[in-house]
Amino acid sequence: MEASRQYDVIIIGSGAGGGTLAYKLAPSGKRVLLLERGDYVAREKDNWDSRAVNVDGKYQTREKWRDRNGKELHPHTNYNVGGNTKFYGSALFRLRTEDFREIRHHGGISPAWPITYEDLEPYYTQAEELFHVHGNRGEDPTDPKASAPYPHPAVSHETRMQQLSDDFARLGLKPFHVPLGIMLDENNSRTSKCIRCNTCDGFSCLLNAKSDAQVCCVDPALAYPNFTLLTNARVQRLETDSSGRRVTTVVVERNGATEKFSADIVVVSCGAINSAALLLRSANDKHPRGLANGSDVVGRHYMGHVNSVLMAISKCPNPTVFQKTLAVNDFYLGSKDWNFPMGHISFVGKLDGVALSAGAPAIAPGWTLDLMAKHSIDFWLTSEDLPDPDNRVTVDRDGAITLAYKPNNEEGHRRLIAKLESLMKQQTKCSVHGHECHEGLFARNIFVGQRIPLAGVAHQNGTIRFGHDPKTSAIDANCKAHDVDNLYVVDGSFFPSSGAVNPALTIIANALRVGDHLLERLH
Ligand SMILES: Cc1cc2nc3c(=O)[nH]c(=O)nc-3n(C[C@H](O)[C@H](O)[C@H](O)COP(=O)(O)OP(=O)(O)OC[C@H]3O[C@@H](n4cnc5c(N)ncnc54)[C@H](O)[C@@H]3O)c2cc1C
Ligand code: SF4
Repeated sequence: MEASRQYDVIIIGSGAGGGTLAYKLAPSGKRVLLLERGDYVAREKDNWDSRAVNVDGKYQTREKWRDRNGKELHPHTNYNVGGNTKFYGSALFRLRTEDFREIRHHGGISPAWPITYEDLEPYYTQAEELFHVHGNRGEDPTDPKASAPYPHPAVSHETRMQQLSDDFARLGLKPFHVPLGIMLDENNSRTSKCIRCNTCDGFSCLLNAKSDAQVCCVDPALAYPNFTLLTNARVQRLETDSSGRRVTTVVVERNGATEKFSADIVVVSCGAINSAALLLRSANDKHPRGLANGSDVVGRHYMGHVNSVLMAISKCPNPTVFQKTLAVNDFYLGSKDWNFPMGHISFVGKLDGVALSAGAPAIAPGWTLDLMAKHSIDFWLTSEDLPDPDNRVTVDRDGAITLAYKPNNEEGHRRLIAKLESLMKQQTKCSVHGHECHEGLFARNIFVGQRIPLAGVAHQNGTIRFGHDPKTSAIDANCKAHDVDNLYVVDGSFFPSSGAVNPALTIIANALRVGDHLLERLH
């Protein structure tokens, strides 16, 4: 065993939260250690191979968890430098102003946050700069007020998506360009880092042209001599002093050996499920229910969104290469005929037959998977799930994870799907082909829908909620543990409610906010 080594700050996990915080703290001159259980994602042709990625799960963890019935669960999650941002679709949304307040849903209450949208706004602006976000401010009818335009112009729609956008607009909707973190320069394809390919969402970018936490944050932080990254360094538990008020030791397994590190400040950022598991595994005499868990909320209120993929299949092929440019938020907060939030309509990356074979959707009669994929437009629908204390992460005596989850607030999601299907049926024949096909929107489509199962933990959040009251939250408004003086959490676990847009930009913005607080504290 090696001797303890002392740092000013130790950050555990290099994803959206931890990677961003590392970037923020590295220029301070303070000794910062970033511990990441995974390695760099290898740069190789398989990065863009649908079979390797979607069927073989080459880059996913092989870890097995259990669901609430004790059934084995293979989580679709990634342990590597940059965390899940290496594989994300880089749709970088701000939460809506309303998401920070209490909202009544059909299925119950989405609780208010201890900070307002205005508190986070300056950090959203910095986050959009740092992650090269492309967008068009003001197109989205639910867009919150922003203090600056997007740093880069919106990524254009390909012909089919533009047509769909026009059709939606004709039906009275306000379709908009998805804010995207890709380093695409459409005015100069020769020098653009991004080549606008069909293997972005769910894939790691072979060209390092996706704005992920490795490329935008961790690699730049490495330029500072006071910053250290240790990969393949899995934190096993945190130990405290005898008062229980201070984390003294970070116990790490690296290259088969146990190593111990110490720091004035320890920041946990392992992703919402693994951070909760780490605190629960770190129970001791002073923290019998788990570290920083006097409130008994650690691990509880797991949220992951109610997500579906809906394939709309029709006679004409959909030749779109980069599909994830269009979104619709008209039903985010409700509609004239239903006064509860429904959610967000967007797209996944263009599906192919190989990807479909991994998910095994219902096959439309008379179609092969390949043909279905060639003729489909592939929607992604997200609705908010509500924080239920019984939806929770627990660990057994060996530290293995159980993720117990019962879906809730599903009526809004069902209505969102019905809305979309009915919108798509409101078109008559195709003006180009004269028959029922994609080109003229969606006369009589076949719809193949699939709910994302529990293993799809991409949007995990909520398990170490922040709040003012130590009885109902584990961390305070600065994301410091109520019960421990030098422990912080900056991944997606701080969300008290999940909103219905993708979470990463909010995690990034919050890490920048907590970074400012830490810089002041370290001064
Ligand atoms: C396929 C896919 C598509 C997505 N698309 C989008 C999108 O378009 N837009 C969006 O906003 N979000 C998207 N997401 C979600 C987004 O990636 C996450 O919200 C975000 O990465 C979460 O950040 P985090 O810091 O909470 O955790 P992560 O990014 O998961 O980082 C956690 C890190 O901690 C490390 N770690 C875990 N345990 C330990 C330990 N014990 N010791 C040391 N290190 C540890 C992990 O290896 C990992 O690197 C997508 C996710 C996936 C998987
Ligand atoms: S080249 Fe562009 S579109 Fe392709 S994976 Fe990289 S960032 Fe995504």
